[in-house]
Amino acid sequence: MILAANFKMNHTRASTKLYIDRLQICGKPENIQIYLFPPFTALDRYESVAVIGAQNGYPARNGSYTGEIGLEQLEEFEIKTILLGHSERRHLLGEDQEFIAKKFDFYKQAGFEIFYCVGETLEVRKSGSKELMEAYLEAQLEGIDTAYEKLVIAYEPVWAIGTGQSATPQDIQEALAYLRTKSGAPLLYGGSVKPQNIAQILEISECDGALIGTASWDVEQFCEMIQIAKEL
Ligand code: PEP
Repeated sequence: MILAANFKMNHTRASTKLYIDRLQICGKPENIQIYLFPPFTALDRYESVAVIGAQNGYPARNGSYTGEIGLEQLEEFEIKTILLGHSERRHLLGEDQEFIAKKFDFYKQAGFEIFYCVGETLEVRKSGSKELMEAYLEAQLEGIDTAYEKLVIAYEPVWAIGTGQSATPQDIQEALAYLRTKSGAPLLYGGSVKPQNIAQILEISECDGALIGTASWDVEQFCEMIQIAKEL
């Protein structure tokens, strides 16, 4: 089972260090793989029970891409895991599928483990159409090697991210069942996962773990979720 914490633009270098120290005490149950995606300024070679990943990366080793971070910078900290296709990058930062697929291909060639996010908008969800929903998810897999052996797919409905409103177990189950027809990769759910609902989510068939934003920023809550997952 995978539990991944996406800090987004939260935590500093100092607070990430404290977080990682506390996580060591919390420990790593045998059945769980833990990942942390801190902001770039907090990347380092940590001694940690968690694998440290990058929230993003430009598809180049280095170069004239002001404000971006590339393979050379990630290699300095031995980062070998990356999050791509997150809805905030798609919808707030305007990344289109072609660019995301280019990043995917670049980091795949570099041998990275890739956490790849897909998820429908509220408009698509509200349409109630299974066909529309599946076509939307399929379009987000365009140009992506779904057979890549270091791929993890996170199903994250846009309307459930950071809203406190998680998708229902049935919605999640249906989306994961569809994604399972496309890939043999581990499938995660993300979208307002918290200590109160994580057990129910992790028990869904085809659900191999969770990608957690808001509720992971407090290390005590993240530890609590690790303990809950350990008991399942
Ligand atoms: C995320 O950003 O990947 C996420 C799932 O956020 P939250 O848990 O806050 O909905």
